[in-house]
Formats: sequence, C-alpha cells, structure tokens
Amino acid sequence: MTPCLVGSIRQAAPGLQEPLEAAMAAGTLEEMIERAESVTRALALLLIGAILTCRALAPTVWPVCRVCERTLRSKGFAPREIQTRFGVVRWRRRLGRCPSGCTIGQFAPLDTALGLAGGQRTSMELQRSASLLAVFVPLETAAAILRRMQGVKVCGSGIWNWVQAAGARAEANLQGELAKLEATGAVAIEQIEAHIAKLVLLIGADGVMVPFRPTPGSPKGTAVWREVKLAVLARLDQRLRPNGVAQVKLARRRLVAVLGDIDALAVRLKLEALRQGITVAPCVVWISDGARGLWRLFHDYLAPLGALGILDFYHAVGQLWSAAETWYHLYLPSGREWLARARRQLRHGEVDSVITQLQEAADDAHRSPDHRKIIQRVTDYLTTHRDHLRYPVFKQRDLPIGSGFVESACKWLIQQRFKGVGMRWSEDGFNNLLLLRLAWANDRFDQLFSPSPMGASTR
Ligand SMILES: [Zn+2]
Repeated sequence: MTPCLVGSIRQAAPGLQEPLEAAMAAGTLEEMIERAESVTRALALLLIGAILTCRALAPTVWPVCRVCERTLRSKGFAPREIQTRFGVVRWRRRLGRCPSGCTIGQFAPLDTALGLAGGQRTSMELQRSASLLAVFVPLETAAAILRRMQGVKVCGSGIWNWVQAAGARAEANLQGELAKLEATGAVAIEQIEAHIAKLVLLIGADGVMVPFRPTPGSPKGTAVWREVKLAVLARLDQRLRPNGVAQVKLARRRLVAVLGDIDALAVRLKLEALRQGITVAPCVVWISDGARGLWRLFHDYLAPLGALGILDFYHAVGQLWSAAETWYHLYLPSGREWLARARRQLRHGEVDSVITQLQEAADDAHRSPDHRKIIQRVTDYLTTHRDHLRYPVFKQRDLPIGSGFVESACKWLIQQRFKGVGMRWSEDGFNNLLLLRLAWANDRFDQLFSPSPMGASTR
C-alpha cells in the first residue's frame, strides 16, 4: 500500500520529490508527521491549482457592460494568485473588457464565481483563522500560532487589517439590522430549540472601563479610560448534579456591548432581545446593580413587556454597608450586628423593616447632617427599588439574585482581551475587535467570512 501511494505521488507530482524523500527518511514518528505535512500542503496547492486551471479553461459566460450593456469580450488569460493556509496558489484565468471601451475596468468571471473580491490577496479561510486567533490573543501571538500550527507566514499588522475589515462588515450588518428595526419595529426571531424557548429569559447589564489612546494615531501618553456598556441575555436552565440537586445553568448566552452611552446599548439590547424571542418568552427577568441609566432602560423597555426586575443582592448589601458605616461605626460590635441583621432581613423579605430603621436614623436630629444625608440616600435607594428587593419570592421561583453572570461576561468579553499590560486602544481598533469577539460569543463569527460573490471587478 505505502510504496504504491508513494509511487503515485512521485509520478503525479515530480516536484514533490524532495519533501517526499524527507518523509520517507524520517526516523521518529514525530519527524514523519511533520514532514508528511509539508507533502500534503504541497499536494493541496497542486490540487487546488489544477482544479482552478481546469475551471479557467471551461467556456466563459460573459456578462454585459453595466454602462453600454454590450457583452464583455475576452482579452485573454492573466495570472491570479492568492495566499491560502497551504501557501500561495497561482493560476491563470480569462479577463474581459467592454468592447466599446467603457471605463469599467477588467472583469474576471471566474473570480466572481469563486467568491473572490477584486483586490483580495488572501483567502477568506485564512483571514478567518487569523482573525479568530486575534479574538483571543494579541496580534503577534496570533501570527506566531498561525506560523507554528499552519506553517503560514503572516505578520501581526496583516492580521490586524483582516480584523478591521471583518469588524467593518460586522458593523455594516449591525447598522443594517438597526435601521430595519427602526423602520419596521420588528426583527425575525432566531431559531431557538423548543425546550430552550420555554425557559426564563434572563437579562443583565453593567459597565466596564477600557484604556484608550489619549491622542488618535499615537500610542503615547497616559491612557484615557472610557466605559463600555455590556448586556447579557441568556435562558435560565437547570442541570442535575450527581447528588440529585438542581443547579442553575445559563443556556443560549448572547452578549451585547458598545463603547457608547446608554441609548446606544438600549437599541442594541432591543435588537438582540427581539432575536432571542423576548416577545414570546414565558418570563423575562432583569438583574442589575443600581446604575440609574440601566434601570431607566429597564423601565422604558423591559417593564412594559412584563419583565421582572431584580436588584443585585450584593449591591443592595453594599448600600446597607455604607449606611452602617455612617450610622454606627463598623468596627463597633453594634454596627456589625446591625449590618448582619439588616442583611438577613433583606434576604428574607423584611425590606420594610429595614427601610423603617434607616428612615428613623435619617430623621434623628442628634446625628450630624452629613451622616443623615448618607443614610437618607440609602433609604431612598431601597425605597425606589422596593419591588426589586423581593428576594424570597425570587428564590422561590429559582431565579438568581446576583448579577455574577454579567460580571463574568465583562471579565471574559472585555478584561481578558482589552486590558492586557500596556494596552491602549484606538476607537476604531477597539470597536472592530469587540464586534469580532461578540460575533464569536454569539455564534455568528463564520458568517462574517463567508465569501460574497460580488465586487469581483479587477480594478
Ligand atoms: Zn460598455
């Protein structure tokens, strides 16, 4: 079998003599695998080249000139090459031109059929692999991995250009969807498995700071920190642990994030919520900390849809903490005791009692005005969120009372990639990479790299 296969390759591709001999001469299995890979890469290049040459020789159907509508005419064959994961593929194909001499440039029907754009020099599959690596690691690391794993030589700045191009495609898609939403008020619901569609739709949001360049185009100077707003949408599923106890598990997690204000987040969240079937979900639950803009979003958009609002329990306890710190001094046993009791009461639904205690302290004329102001602020805060503090009810319905799932999304989506040592982002660079990370997280990455059969003029 083996001598026969080696013989066939030798015969079919005399140019592969050298890597073939090297593979045959390999001592260890390790060497054999490495060397066989260079044979297969060279073979793949030959194969692709042969198929393309065959296609190029087939009769060409010429389109008409878009200016004068006369059928384009062949000017003969011209070379084309493209970098792929196997190396550079070269072939020759027919180029056509308008017989009337209209300035529409030259046209290669085969390029169009292959999904190649005019100036494209790298295959989409290579751009996709490289951009995917850039989603997770810095550019130079991505280039090194690509070199190591696929034997492809690309540089970090090359990968960056592909990331920018893919990010621009993602932004164009998003703007198209947002425009459609604004015009029609509707968006198609994504296909959701029946058992998932029956689950609670959980939504949470938060902000996270990212370092940006102080002056566009220059990495110098102190970083300027700007807030990225992020929302998570997920279905609240359960899984049984081996001991039979049910554990909360998020299913079909989708992320929305934007470097912008709360309104920019709101429109994107609406779009994603509609795609995720918010209008037909059996129950919608919103969890957030106290940020006012986020609760405005809840009241303007989610509450009218019947969504239930939950104030993150740990955030509410943080408020009690600041009151306790002012009211009693925390290091006094009485302060710690009060905090522990108030926390317990909050957890068990005795919000009114906590609010009454706080209001009495805020009204106490014996305290300093500054202290009373702080305690009043906490009192008002809890009063405003009274409906969102019904923790026993939420627990009974197996709903989470903490927004940890949003914080972990912030860590994964933003911190891990955008807050490395010494990193400072340009606005465009950040936005494009963010869109790619979102596309990956939301299972829409590959569609950004599906070749489009358009724009194949060879300008
Ligand atoms: Zn013409």
